[in-house]
Amino acid sequence: MNEPIDFKNLSEDQWRARLTPQEFHVLREAGTEPPGVGEYTDTTTEGVYRCRACGQELFRSSEKFASHCGWPSFFTPLAGDNVIEREDTSHGMVRTEVLCANCGSHLGHVFAGEGYDTPTDLRYCINSISLTLDEGEEA
Ligand SMILES: [Zn+2]
Repeated sequence: MNEPIDFKNLSEDQWRARLTPQEFHVLREAGTEPPGVGEYTDTTTEGVYRCRACGQELFRSSEKFASHCGWPSFFTPLAGDNVIEREDTSHGMVRTEVLCANCGSHLGHVFAGEGYDTPTDLRYCINSISLTLDEGEEA
């Protein structure tokens, strides 16, 4: 990758060429990986989680917590403007979808007020397949 890529303007074909079919389904079609199978569900390794589609830094391991919901869970994003949150009324529910602000790819959903013992009581419920862990880069 020598030239900067304009991730906001990649075509569907360009995305399909960059991602595996499973990654494409979740990141570009707002799919959800099954609970408990994602590679980062219970990971406690220190590092920074990046967007698997574009590499943007999204979450830190220090803000990951054990929600036991079956997906990696964070109580806050690394920086608020690294993600986009928007209402999602699919599947007969009103949820808040979380997307990468740099490339618009689907990451997961955020849920509030569930009673988790975290500083925010927010649960950013993120698909493992939407993330890549950069180990040991945490400041
Ligand atoms: Zn991205």
